[in-house]
Amino acid sequence: MSVCIAVTNPTGGVGKTTTTVSLGASLAVRGLRVLIVDADPQANATSALGVKGRDEAGLYAALIEEEPLERSVELTATANLWIVPTTPALAGAEVELVTVMAREFRMKRAIETLRTQYDVILMDCPPSLGLLTVNALAAADEVIIPVQAEYFAIEGLGHLSKTVEMIRRNLNPQLAIRGVLLTMYDSRTNLAREVEQEVRTHFPATFRTVIPRSVRLAEAPSHGEPITAYDSSSTGAKAYEELANELIERLRERELLPAVAPMRARAAVAPASEVAHGA
Ligand code: ATP
Ligand code: MG
Repeated sequence: MSVCIAVTNPTGGVGKTTTTVSLGASLAVRGLRVLIVDADPQANATSALGVKGRDEAGLYAALIEEEPLERSVELTATANLWIVPTTPALAGAEVELVTVMAREFRMKRAIETLRTQYDVILMDCPPSLGLLTVNALAAADEVIIPVQAEYFAIEGLGHLSKTVEMIRRNLNPQLAIRGVLLTMYDSRTNLAREVEQEVRTHFPATFRTVIPRSVRLAEAPSHGEPITAYDSSSTGAKAYEELANELIERLRERELLPAVAPMRARAAVAPASEVAHGA
């Protein structure tokens, strides 16, 4: 049974997609079976992994037409890393979901059948609190909240934790904030250090790992590769590797993950034809 994690923050450009893709790839390299669900019509996670979404398949069809999500899953160039790609057509789902039955639970139902096939499912959320994000939060066991160490971070986190509390009360009592993640961190500035301190005081579930600003992380998506493939020795890759270790540790404490070797050798890139979905 997998653990399902929504990577969310309604503030735009805080590193949600970078975290979903880089963390997903780091967990896959450790030998875990990882599925990324691209729940953002911008389709950034899809293109960052060098995958092309199809309008007739993908999350839209699963949410609106209740097509089995399994049909949309594609293996990426990284072994153990699969994706449900998306296209901008998913924006239509945000509108069309308004009138469907059980509109908040479509994602949960779509993912349910895939749960046994993966160890970790990561959902990349759009920068809004619309129905796509609500669906992701209703489907998730946990949330990871990337924040930039800037002045408005605390205010934004306050709003978001109230939203999570509301989702918990009304839709998903199990939902836990697994961690706040400081991203694009520049340790040379006093502001970053001050914001970090304040975030840690208000949100004890903040990850020890901090993601530094890294040019290589910003470059990787334009090559359609996760940082593990693009430049595995960069500071960005190392930071996400450390985050993967910390997350594994947190999940294993709660027996939510099978045992994995602490530093399993880098998995070879598997040709798509040799790897069955979820195998
Ligand atoms: P959106 O809200 O639009 O979905 P997001 O929260 O998913 O955005 P990203 O797309 O991951 O944010 O990041 C925003 C921009 O910052 C991207 O251009 C990305 O490449 C860059 N970026 C993310 N993390 C880092 C980092 N640690 N160092 C340098 N650049 C980064
Ligand atoms: Mg994004």
